[in-house]
Amino acid sequence: MLNAQSERMQGRLLTNEPLAKHTSWRVGGPADRMYIPHDRQDLVDFIRRLPAEEPLLWIGLGSNLLVRDGGIRGTVINTKGRLKAMTRLADASIYVEAGVPCAHVARFCGEQGLCGAEFLAGIPGTMGGALKMNAGAFGGETWDIVESVEMLSAGGDIVERAKGDFLIGYRSVKGFETNKAWFISARLRLAPGDSEASQQKIKALLDRRGKTQPTNQPSCGSVFKNPPGDHAARLIEQAGLKGYAIGGACVSEKHANFIVNTGHASAADIEALIAHVRQTVYNQYGVNLQTEVCMVGETSEVLSA
Ligand SMILES: Cc1cc2nc3c(=O)[nH]c(=O)nc-3n(C[C@H](O)[C@H](O)[C@H](O)COP(=O)(O)OP(=O)(O)OC[C@H]3O[C@@H](n4cnc5c(N)ncnc54)[C@H](O)[C@@H]3O)c2cc1C
Repeated sequence: MLNAQSERMQGRLLTNEPLAKHTSWRVGGPADRMYIPHDRQDLVDFIRRLPAEEPLLWIGLGSNLLVRDGGIRGTVINTKGRLKAMTRLADASIYVEAGVPCAHVARFCGEQGLCGAEFLAGIPGTMGGALKMNAGAFGGETWDIVESVEMLSAGGDIVERAKGDFLIGYRSVKGFETNKAWFISARLRLAPGDSEASQQKIKALLDRRGKTQPTNQPSCGSVFKNPPGDHAARLIEQAGLKGYAIGGACVSEKHANFIVNTGHASAADIEALIAHVRQTVYNQYGVNLQTEVCMVGETSEVLSA
């Protein structure tokens, strides 16, 4: 088994690390182990030394993750602030590693006179999380601008894959085993543009977010995907659920598809509220809302059993 003194390990190996410190909802029990790699090569070395059966969960900024109160058995790979290289390439494209925050990508592209990445500005996650979720906003989606990606396999091999290898949908990317391969970088193709116009667009998008979303309270953004031809927020609001609370979890008064942590929520509170919202909307409108947030980990009953 790995320990913090393992030879050549340059990153940090934490044990029993509370995920509440690493998720935007500020909830989540402990991970058995969390590895914060030094850089890309250190991560590859770490993955190669892991026992083949070790369960892995990769996280970025934890902005789309509900980690249950019993936490994570296995190892969490935390890329935040670590896989952070971003460079302009010869043509209108950039190379960006998985740990770079989406907002930095939007800003960097604008500074480089490249347009098309502005929508990333208000998405509070990493590039890795955006690739996994096909994160999108205001008409733009991550995979619209992806040309190719590099993936790291559980065996420690890096493979370059073209966009065409994946099946891309609304908040969905298929074509790889999520527990056996992860994104470590992407090549994004933009269009030549005007820096000033990009900055203006970013400012307008951020202003719009500030007006419509509870950005000052812990949340995970939109909890549910929009059903075809409709908006989850509209259905939840019409069902009279704005302000409905279970424990410290509350349906936002500002945006009905957001659940906010009012200060002392547990993951169980949030999960119970998600179930209540889904059931209520189903009972009233016959629409079965699908969650956009990823739910992982064990309940606290399992931990204390
Ligand atoms: C206030 C707020 C507003 C938001 N607005 C939007 C929005 O407008 N549009 C939108 O799409 N989303 C939005 N989100 C949700 C979230 O920011 C995005 O889904 C984001 O892409 C998640 O990135 P992350 O780094 O935080 O991923 P995490 O939450 O850490 O992880 C999300 C998923 O990606 C996986 N993952 C993480 N890194 C990797 C990797 N390198 N390789 C493979 N899998 C990986 C995780 O295992 C998990 O399954 C919002 C969230 C908040 C809190």
